[in-house]
Amino acid sequence: MHELSIILNIIEIAEQEAKNAGAASISCIELDIGSLSTIEPAAFDFAWKQGVRNSMLEQAKLVTNYIPGRGRCNYCQTVFKLKALYDPCPQCGEFLAEVIEGKELKIKSIRIEEKQTT
Ligand SMILES: [Zn+2]
Repeated sequence: MHELSIILNIIEIAEQEAKNAGAASISCIELDIGSLSTIEPAAFDFAWKQGVRNSMLEQAKLVTNYIPGRGRCNYCQTVFKLKALYDPCPQCGEFLAEVIEGKELKIKSIRIEEKQTT
């Protein structure tokens, strides 16, 4: 299950940002996940619960935006929806489309809890 290693990487980045901002914990994290990335939503949710244990994201609300795939045909430049990586161009039938959207996996935003100062 490769989702867990991806998640651990996301957590590391988010924690680093939160620490830089002097935060005590992260209350919400929003992720953009391309539908052409190799992420399986159910596996991702399951791995997320494992991955955030004992991290600053343990209580964080997870918001995931699944970004639909879009490709541009290398031959006729038509931009079309990609359901899978090697979908043919609907215009000319070529298979070599450049993926312009849908492979990304990135942190869109995080919301942090300030440290309590007494
Ligand atoms: Zn084409």
